[in-house]
Formats: sequence, structure tokens, C-alpha cells
Amino acid sequence: MPRPIEALIHVPNLAHNLARARACAPDAQVWAVVKANAYGHGIENVYEGLRAADGFALLDLDEAQRIRALGWRGPILLLEGCFETRDLELCSRLKLWHAVHCEQQIDWLAMHKTHEPHRVFLKLNSGMNRLGFAPQAFRAAWTRLNALPQVDEISLMTHFSDADALRFGKDGIQHQLDIFKQVCADLPGERTVSNSAATLRHTARVASDWVRAGIMTYGGVPDYPEHGPEHWDLRPGMTLRSKIIGVQHLQPGDTVGYGSSFTASQAMRIGIVACGYADGYPRHVPSGSPILVDGQRTTTVGRVSMDMLAVDLTALPASASFDSEVTLWGRGPKAQVLPIDEVAKAAGTIGYELMCALAKRVPVTIEPMV
Ligand SMILES: *Cc1c(COP(=O)(O)O)cnc(C)c1O
Repeated sequence: MPRPIEALIHVPNLAHNLARARACAPDAQVWAVVKANAYGHGIENVYEGLRAADGFALLDLDEAQRIRALGWRGPILLLEGCFETRDLELCSRLKLWHAVHCEQQIDWLAMHKTHEPHRVFLKLNSGMNRLGFAPQAFRAAWTRLNALPQVDEISLMTHFSDADALRFGKDGIQHQLDIFKQVCADLPGERTVSNSAATLRHTARVASDWVRAGIMTYGGVPDYPEHGPEHWDLRPGMTLRSKIIGVQHLQPGDTVGYGSSFTASQAMRIGIVACGYADGYPRHVPSGSPILVDGQRTTTVGRVSMDMLAVDLTALPASASFDSEVTLWGRGPKAQVLPIDEVAKAAGTIGYELMCALAKRVPVTIEPMV
């Protein structure tokens, strides 16, 4: 028997969440963002659920090839563009659209030999200061691109730093939106601005030809804990579940796990779960964090180790015992959901990081479309 841990990929939920992105931005086309191996879900695993998207957005050329290998003929966008000059050959061959965020990428294009001109997304740094042309350099970059025979359509793109919250106590997107509108005012071309947070929170204010839906597609909530998944009607894309493989009875004063970081103050019954940080469950989850046993909420006990962690069974029925199902995050028995964001928060991180960190050793089961 293999270890009882597994990750379930809820393909119908992915389709539902993608439809939510569409409903939020009914006038826009939707990129399903599948970078980082579809946020840890596996590109091949999510494809069926997301093929209703208008395009796939990602970073790695290898991932673009995998999407083409699945039979996708529609748009694919490289969100960071090319990393070296020969990447352009693959863009030509696979018909990839690509971001252009710096002068070097324009230099490479100018030297590129291609029969068919490329569609590019010129990226404005509107204030995040990660990638993109500064406002004062943007129009010159557009003019330079527009003069190249290697370039076909030029679309315009920027990325928000604070679409999920306020910025210095004020609206999180307005300052960047103003800069984008001002710099791009009379430039032709399609616009893509919104990530999940902007799509959910600000759609009415952001005119966008394409939205870029990442985390929401996987059921992660970009503005947790201000909102939970039920507020946005998002369903979990992934469940991580395992089983109890041992039970211990503690007396007051007994400790649990490495470092004896937890001491029982009363008699307790605890279960040992076949899941640890080598499976992608964060070691930083402190004692007392939420977890489901047989679909009932309880808490973790002591430190997470490489292959195991402990849960408190004291207040649960005696049936919660050896072989009981444990939901680390996602959908448990009895339709109970433990949002990945809730576990992430306990670990001092965000749902994005947990889903992306699902370990290779965890077997994946796909819940297919009905
Ligand atoms: C990852 C990414 C997105 C998607 O962001 P989410 O918060 O996951 O929706 C959108 N645009 C760019 C440029 C990205 O890198």
C-alpha cells in the first residue's frame, strides 16, 4: 500500500472558477494563467477544465510547448516575454504572443528572422517597479516596435501591485490606472491590465480587453481574509488529503513531536497524519492551526515534521481515529471545505505559495469533468 496521501485536482471546480472570471469581466477575453505548472496543479491536469479560456498565459517556454502538445491552437502569452534571443524562434514556430518589457527584447526582435510578424504585449511599469518600460520611455518603445517588420499587433499591458487591498490607506489601483490611461491614451491596441484581484474587486472601473485570471481560477482568494471563497463564489481547485496512521493517548505534561514544542495540559487523544513538509504542507504551520478529520474541524498539535504531523482528536467522536480521512486543505467529506488560504494564513503565507509547493512525491488524482 502506498502512503495514503494524495492531491485531488477538481477539474469541474476549475471550470466553474474560470466562468466566474468571465462573469466578472463579461466584455473581456480571459487568459487562464497557468504559470508555475498551473500554480502547482499540473498543466496537463487542469487543461480540460480551462480549455474554455480564450488563451493561456504563462512564463516558461517549456510550458507553452506542453500546452501546444495538448492540442491548443489558440492564443498563448509569455507574460515575461523572451529570456534570450533564440526564444524568438520558438515564438515564431509555436505562434506565441509575448510581452516586451525592456529594450533588449526589442533589440532581439529587430535581429529576428521570421516570415510571420509577432503579436507583442508592450509592458508599462506603472508603479510596481518590477518589469516594464517607465512611463517616459514607453512611447519611444512603442514607436520603435511599431517600425519593426517583425512586429504585427502591439497590445498594451501593465500589472497592479495592490489590487487586493488598499495602498497607503487609499484605493489600491487608481494611481497605476491613471498612469496607464495617461501614457496609453491615444495608442491603438488591446489592453490587458487586471489580475484576479482586480477582476474580482475592480472590474467595473478597469476597461480591459483581456483579464489575466490566475489564483481565482484555482479557487484561491487574492484578498483573503477580507473575503473568503464563498464571498466570491470560488471553489477549491485542489484538495490535499491523507489519513491517520497512528493514535496516541497523552497525559498532562506529555509533549508532542520535535522540540517538544507542545505540552499537553490535560489528557488528550491525538492522531498522527501521513503528511509533512516534504509533501508541501508548510513547516511553519503552528500548533493550533485548522485541519479537518472526517470532515470535522480540529487543530494541529506540535511541530510539522518531514512526513508526519499530529492532530487533536480529543473533542471528536471516537470514530475519528486510525484510518480517518484528514483534509489538509480543500474539500473534505460531508462537503466541508477548509480554504487553502486559511491554512496559508496560519503559516504566515498566501494560498499561492502552498499550491505551488505541492511536492512531486504526492500522487495526484484528477476529478474529471462531468
Ligand atoms: C501571475 C500573473 C498574473 C495572475 O495573477 P493572479 O493574482 O494569480 O491572478 C497576472 N499577470 C501577470 C503579469 C502575472 O505574472
